[in-house]
Amino acid sequence: MSDSAPTIMWFRDDLRLADNPALYDAASRGPVVCLYVHDPAFPLGGAEKWWLHGALSVLDHDLRAQGGQLCIMAGDTHESISWLAGQVGAVSVVWNRRYGPHARQVDAQVKAALKARGIDAHSHPGNMLHEPWQVRTRQGTPFRVFTPWWRAVQAKGAPLPPLPAPDRPVFAVVPSVAGGRLVTPAALGLLPEHPDWAQGLRAQWQPGEGAAHARLDAFIAEQVHGYATQRELPARPATSGLSPYLRFGHVSPRQVWHAVDAAGKGDRDTACFLSEVGWRDFAHATLFDFPDMGTRNLRPEYDHMPWRHDPAALRAWQMGKTGYPIIDAGMRELWRTGWMHNRVRMVVASFLTKHLLLDWRVGAAWFADTLVDADAASNPFNWQWVAGCGLDAAPYFRIFNPVSQGEKFDPAGDYVRKWVPEIAHLPDKYIHAPWKAGPDAPRGYPAPIVDLAGGRARALAAWKTL
Ligand code: FAD
Repeated sequence: MSDSAPTIMWFRDDLRLADNPALYDAASRGPVVCLYVHDPAFPLGGAEKWWLHGALSVLDHDLRAQGGQLCIMAGDTHESISWLAGQVGAVSVVWNRRYGPHARQVDAQVKAALKARGIDAHSHPGNMLHEPWQVRTRQGTPFRVFTPWWRAVQAKGAPLPPLPAPDRPVFAVVPSVAGGRLVTPAALGLLPEHPDWAQGLRAQWQPGEGAAHARLDAFIAEQVHGYATQRELPARPATSGLSPYLRFGHVSPRQVWHAVDAAGKGDRDTACFLSEVGWRDFAHATLFDFPDMGTRNLRPEYDHMPWRHDPAALRAWQMGKTGYPIIDAGMRELWRTGWMHNRVRMVVASFLTKHLLLDWRVGAAWFADTLVDADAASNPFNWQWVAGCGLDAAPYFRIFNPVSQGEKFDPAGDYVRKWVPEIAHLPDKYIHAPWKAGPDAPRGYPAPIVDLAGGRARALAAWKTL
């Protein structure tokens, strides 16, 4: 501990000690105060809240192991930072950048207000492989298509190597008057209580930097080999499961990139995985350049799409009771664990926006509330991609058939049997179309809520009106 003028390290979506450029900078300037502000102006989904509780607890624990602590404040970001800066006599405040419109606006306000008081404020690149403005077309404009963007990224060479955690950082003494406004993670009320629906999340996930690296190491040891082919099969544990760790910044994309690249030495599986990590950057770069991506169609002609209003169909989709096993398995996996396999995310999103003709924003809102990796960039970006209204989107007329998608990517029905146990007894030939089983058709499992051919024809007719 030290009582000379400190720097405030303002943690946000970067809840880690290693490869944290802002923290590294703060520690090199002198004593550090570590701060997290829980601001209601940045609403979180239920699953994200559950994760954040664990994430803050682990970060506080990790800091205390080094003689520091995480100061947690609840309330308006600007007011909280200003107040704490005054209380501790901070000379500077540092953070890693965010790319959403509201976040950028708040960060700019905070920076201006601090500078006006003579307090240095500095932002760092800590959450992307490259900053959005570093990858541009020859004309200096944003890329609208992933493949040329990814080629441009690769032409830049490897992203910056990750930084170590600060070596024996010095932590500032936080005066007791400031302590009165600090809260514990429990006091933020992030955990569900009545009812406690988080049992499945607890069974599957452990937030924190240590758990992120354990998962990354296991992925490199066991799964990266074969990733390019196995990643499409939801019954296999073939993907990394790193998405919530990247979402909350327990691990940085640069750490992931360098660790996997070093292990894979450029083979096909490694290249495929790194390009997926690239999609994350591309989604954030798109949000940076098109700030209303979360609410507005990137292709304005879709503003005229005649979306339906059908609360019963939406509820059936949310609850995994559509009568289509691959859809229901995915939605139940999401509800139970806060995560869903990427292939199944695409199929359930296509079903909602095409067979049910419901607005992608309704689906994105449900994902935002239920995903532990819910992300202001990746979530709407991918919804717009599937719905056809994204920049580099799958065409609207590409409509996934949930039966053939199930047969192709879950051929033995293992994934469906795990999440839809009431049809587990069916033979493989009916597992993706249980209504065809005749007298063996399971009771208690719903009949299909929409006819596939009819829903497809309705979707195409709607699209042709644009
Ligand atoms: P891996 O296959 O191991 O990939 C490694 C990492 O690459 C992921 O952790 C993720 O950070 C990134 N990545 C992979 N695919 C994508 C992609 N298509 N777009 C952006 N990043 C990607 N991902 C989120 O992180 N948050 C979301 O809110 C989100 N919403 C989605 C909504 C829809 C409708 C769809 C189709 C996809 C969405 N994705 C989202 C992308 C993808 O489904 C998840 O990133 C992936 O399933 C996470 O599992 P993993 O970590 O095992 O992935």
